[in-house]
Amino acid sequence: MFGIWLMLHVDRARLAARLSEMAMVGATGRGGVHRLALSDADRQARDLLDAWCRQKGFSLEVDTVGNMFASRTGRSSEAPPLLIGSHLDSQPNAGAYDGPVGVLCALEVLESLDDLDVETRQPVQVVNWTNEEGARFRPPLLASGVFAGIYDAEFALNCRDVEGIRFGDELQRIGYAGPRQPGWPISGYIEVHIEQGTVLEATGAVVGVVTGVVGIRDLQVTVVGEDTHAGPLDMRSRRDALLGAAEMIVAANALGLEHAPDSRVTVGRIAVPSDSHSVVPGLAEFTLDLRHPESNGLDSLEKAARERFQRIAHDRNLELRFKQMFEYPPVAFDISLRDEIRSAALGLGHPALDLPSRAGHDAWNMARVAPAAMIFIPCRDGISHNEREFAEFEHIVAAADVLLNTVASVTKSR
Ligand SMILES: [Zn+2]
Repeated sequence: MFGIWLMLHVDRARLAARLSEMAMVGATGRGGVHRLALSDADRQARDLLDAWCRQKGFSLEVDTVGNMFASRTGRSSEAPPLLIGSHLDSQPNAGAYDGPVGVLCALEVLESLDDLDVETRQPVQVVNWTNEEGARFRPPLLASGVFAGIYDAEFALNCRDVEGIRFGDELQRIGYAGPRQPGWPISGYIEVHIEQGTVLEATGAVVGVVTGVVGIRDLQVTVVGEDTHAGPLDMRSRRDALLGAAEMIVAANALGLEHAPDSRVTVGRIAVPSDSHSVVPGLAEFTLDLRHPESNGLDSLEKAARERFQRIAHDRNLELRFKQMFEYPPVAFDISLRDEIRSAALGLGHPALDLPSRAGHDAWNMARVAPAAMIFIPCRDGISHNEREFAEFEHIVAAADVLLNTVASVTKSR
């Protein structure tokens, strides 16, 4: 256990300056950023990170899927590095905190270790993961997934955006197709991130000790009826797929509400290929996103959704197809890293709270290959993926301090 007098602190002025400089890259003018993976704005954000790391003499490496790593050497050259970081890409017209806060707190920790002459046993590496958001290239958490061996690099390089542009080509274009094969051994991974919920805010806790990530299952639902002219056919004879899908969306929402507080059920995307004002839609496709802390919870949500949708389809003379898109099983974070984070928060005098993450994060992939943990920062009104996203600077500093002390502690001997 630390005494208060032994706690380390980051350089808050430097952290503040870096956060505001990074928030200007791809700025929307309304306080947010638009920085899709492998876009020009993403390249500018990467260039900025690269320049900061080089100024400080941290060696920089990029792997074949564009993940960036800045290293500070440790006492032992053989010990696998401890990774800290997050992502710099964003959703469309999103907030300036989701991702960058984690990367910049990590960089701040690396610099503070230097400033404070803290020697670590293993190297410490700051990472910026490529395409965390999945807004441009599906699936999300793509390049950390390659690092963790969930996907091979070829799969990632061949992903295409909606315009058909290949991930690998964009990576080359922005100059971040690196030489190193991803997936080297690491001793652990710690990520700072905004909570994207209201649990910390509601309880007045400043530091979130994340217990794990809920499981997420994504299904594609296709509703098939028959295209027909909006005029001549009697309304009762229609097989309107969009109308059926609309009822299914309402049913999905009711299902989530009935299984509170652990469940989340979301339809976030719908496509109507006929897309014409005078056609009764014969086809509608939507995504169904199910979240629950336990695998069997996901199973029962899916079962209930299928049953309800089938009933609606039957009543409206529609056909229904389900296709599983991807699944992330629930993950528990490393107990001893969680203890270290809690002790650091306590030593710094910050109220801490254990809570699960209901959003996917790169730490989720990393938990499959190394002890992993996350530190959550309160986020105003729980709003994220939105330009109004906001986190108090004091809370960001608290998380950076907690990360610094956690890193110093776990790299003493481990
Ligand atoms: Zn994020």
